[in-house]
Amino acid sequence: MAESLPPFLTIKPRKAAYRPMAERVRDYRDVAVPREEAASREQASRCMDCFLPFCHWACPLGNHVPNWNKALAAGDWAEAYRQLQATNNLPEVTARICPAPCEAACVLNIAGEPVTIREDELAVIERAFEAGLVQPAPPRVRTGKAVAVIGSGPAGLACADQLNHAGHRVTVFERDDKIGGLLRYGIPDFKLEKRMLDRRLALLEAEGITFAPGTAVGEAYTVEALRKNFDAVCLAIGARVPRELPVEGHTLAGIYPAMTYLAQSNRRVAGERIPAKARIDAQGRCVVVIGGGDTGADCVGTAHRQGARRVTQLEILPRPPEQRAPTDVWPNYPQILRTSTSHEEGGQREWAVQTTRFLGRAGRVRALEAVRVEWVPPAGQTRPAPRELPGTAFTIETDLVLLAMGFVGAERHPLLEALGVRSDARGAIQTDEHYMTAIPGIFSAGDARRGQSLVVWAIAEGRRAAHYLDAHLMGSSALPLL
Ligand SMILES: Cc1cc2nc3c(=O)[nH]c(=O)nc-3n(C[C@H](O)[C@H](O)[C@H](O)COP(=O)(O)OP(=O)(O)OC[C@H]3O[C@@H](n4cnc5c(N)ncnc54)[C@H](O)[C@@H]3O)c2cc1C
Ligand code: SF4
Repeated sequence: MAESLPPFLTIKPRKAAYRPMAERVRDYRDVAVPREEAASREQASRCMDCFLPFCHWACPLGNHVPNWNKALAAGDWAEAYRQLQATNNLPEVTARICPAPCEAACVLNIAGEPVTIREDELAVIERAFEAGLVQPAPPRVRTGKAVAVIGSGPAGLACADQLNHAGHRVTVFERDDKIGGLLRYGIPDFKLEKRMLDRRLALLEAEGITFAPGTAVGEAYTVEALRKNFDAVCLAIGARVPRELPVEGHTLAGIYPAMTYLAQSNRRVAGERIPAKARIDAQGRCVVVIGGGDTGADCVGTAHRQGARRVTQLEILPRPPEQRAPTDVWPNYPQILRTSTSHEEGGQREWAVQTTRFLGRAGRVRALEAVRVEWVPPAGQTRPAPRELPGTAFTIETDLVLLAMGFVGAERHPLLEALGVRSDARGAIQTDEHYMTAIPGIFSAGDARRGQSLVVWAIAEGRRAAHYLDAHLMGSSALPLL
């Protein structure tokens, strides 16, 4: 009798489905359509359970991808959830917004399409919540040690969760009025609805973590109080200093850093009233987003939803190829053109363009001038740099410019000076390989330590810092390093 073929040869990969564009640009709800259970199980069965799982290697959390896929395919939701939560404190977040380096490294890429790992992750965690598998599990024993986590983004939350499970009393301080860091006031709701965050925060609180929003450490809460009340500290304060564009006219009204725009939009979506004078609204405007990365794409999607007349996104780098270049090999994350759901919704993208000045009328931006560039190494150098192409200058009419050119590092915070913590030239907090700064008992994790990165990296950093901080307090740690 002929043996049946394995599922990865017979089952077609099914990518994420999104709501129709005409519908989704009218609201801020998640753009994705949840997949039916049967389809999730079928897709998970495509996992080959490789002897050497490159997905596991590529995920910064070392997620047990083949294990949860196997359990999911078998319909064993409890086991799938057990495997998932063993390495990931916020799977409902990564399952929605992680760029999934695991999928790029999936062995099936060699001759086809990868397993839909991120969506499988989403299926597992959402089913786990629905089935009541995700329950508060406070530690049985408390150590008597108190730890302060400063910053409530994914790094701070993962670190706090781990340390709480180790039995320490954990307080998470947050300068903003609500907990969540960039998950709350950066990433738009159409990528991550805030009810997902609130659901996790309720769980962490029920397990005994204390949240102190609206508390800037080093200001409202003094460094002296911090030293007196806590045995150890983890600095997870992010890296929010934006790259600037100091060309002529950059101080005109109507030009904003992307984060100012996105944070305000998220507040409005959450129901906050912003006074008319302070409101940044793309409705009816010709918007230019400068910067072609994820933050820029989030501005594009937000501007569409606010009813922009026209949206143009400018990027100084050349257009990436649609397929991997011969030197860009599996299992590395491919350097290829990415088109987000926000790009699909409309607007124009321009590559290899440098903005040279802003033009104004009555103090407000009315246009920008730009020039096309080529990337060549300057004489005597090997690294390519942009060089203006003569005769390519052009003008774009605009009355709202959003600067999304990336972040240069962490703030030079007075808190760091008061603690005696050092930063490198980019503003990243310096630590040893155990995530501890030069001051014993003061640790750091996330963007503040490694520079602007990804949520999955922030979680991984928070977990590792928790391990080393626990070992510092207790002599050894049972918390996993991954
Ligand atoms: C617009 C945007 C979109 C993004 N989209 C994605 C995406 O789709 N996928 C992805 O993987 N990554 C994405 N990222 C990156 C990701 O959000 C970050 O890498 C991640 O949030 C970093 O986490 P963190 O905890 O280190 O810092 P943050 O999330 O920045 O949190 C740091 C927190 O510390 C607080 N803080 C600072 N100083 C103090 C103080 N003195 N006292 C108290 N609190 C303080 C800050 O207010 C902040 O809330 C995006 C980033 C941006 C800006
Ligand atoms: S966290 Fe990201 S890289 Fe890791 S398994 Fe999930 S989608 Fe893949």
